[in-house]
Amino acid sequence: MFPVEEIRKDFPILQRQVNGKPLVYFDNAATSQTPQQVIDAIVDYYSNYNANIHRGVHTLSQEATDKYEQARLKIQQHFNAKASHEIIMTSGTTHGINLVASGFGALLKKGDEVIVSALEHHSNIVPWQMMCERSGAVLKVIPMNDEGALVMSAYDALLSEKTKLVFVNHISNALGTINPIKDIIEKAHAVGAAVLIDGAQACPHVKPDVQALDVDFYVASAHKMCGPTGVGMLYGKEEWLNKLPPYQGGGEMIAEVSFEKTTYADLPHKFEAGTPNICGGIAFGAAIDYMNAIGFENIATYEHELLDYATAQLLEIDGLKIFGTSKQKTAVISFNLDGIHPYDVGTLLDKMGIAVRTGHHCAQPIMDYFKIPGTIRASIAFYNTKKEIDALAAAVKKAQLMLS
Ligand code: PMP
Repeated sequence: MFPVEEIRKDFPILQRQVNGKPLVYFDNAATSQTPQQVIDAIVDYYSNYNANIHRGVHTLSQEATDKYEQARLKIQQHFNAKASHEIIMTSGTTHGINLVASGFGALLKKGDEVIVSALEHHSNIVPWQMMCERSGAVLKVIPMNDEGALVMSAYDALLSEKTKLVFVNHISNALGTINPIKDIIEKAHAVGAAVLIDGAQACPHVKPDVQALDVDFYVASAHKMCGPTGVGMLYGKEEWLNKLPPYQGGGEMIAEVSFEKTTYADLPHKFEAGTPNICGGIAFGAAIDYMNAIGFENIATYEHELLDYATAQLLEIDGLKIFGTSKQKTAVISFNLDGIHPYDVGTLLDKMGIAVRTGHHCAQPIMDYFKIPGTIRASIAFYNTKKEIDALAAAVKKAQLMLS
């Protein structure tokens, strides 16, 4: 049996009350909660070895550098990258995508095509639109169907020798759909296009193997997987990272600087200008250790049980509709109550101590597809329980009564 009660003791925040009620946290897709082990890593850094890295001869700087680089190795192993210099430390998924989009802006030319999907978060749409404006490349969109899954036959039809890059998410934050990324990558490679996968929503639930996927770029955020905010990772195949120009200029990313000419540092430093989020990177490593100690297979099995349970509980409520009904989905339930605005439901749930997300979830094209302003999204993590799902279902019924 999954030791959820033991696990919950690792999360101090789960003990707190909200509006006089025990906190029930179902906004995990926005940000996950932080276990004591990760909080301890943050406190340890600032209490014992806070220093700038990579250039200090003194002990604190060397200790901080060692710990930071160990974190990079943990990330490399976790994602099964071939080399640690293929892991670029970022401030999060958004930063990683912008870094790659900016680089491709310099490589692409008018008439080249790039492909996005209808299921994306704005952060995997807008940087590419900006890149297309600069380069003259054309953005094509893989459509979705009523289940919230991608129409793969349409993807096949979009691919051609003009396609240079495909960027899709591994799992949709708004609907929970798991995209067939292996297939997407294979088909893109068959026409010579590179692929970026936005793994922000996948990494809390699965352990991606970038070599097995043969993906060119993979991005994620620590704060979705029990780590702190403001830190993340970009995996890039070495040959691609060498081809892309640097993203930002500054300290750390140079080999030599003179007013006549500057040369750039080797990977990964070429893409890491300025002082990074040192403490955040180290805590990201601690979060990866924490999740691996529980085990991603155990997490997936338990979360699926909760997803099935929550889906059944919620569907018992008259007038409740779930958006995102693909069989390939993870622990996200996006729903609406007939005739009631999602925001009103979210506000009432908060009064009952229950945290959910309401709105368009930074995925307006999905809301446009369903012709709705937004949804109520309950996103589940491995520290949630069936009892909390019962509380959610009861609170939704109560909100419905109060609002109809
Ligand atoms: N992509 C997806 C699928 C997401 O869910 C999110 C976060 N909601 C992001 C990208 C952006 O992540 P961040 O804000 O951490 O950069």
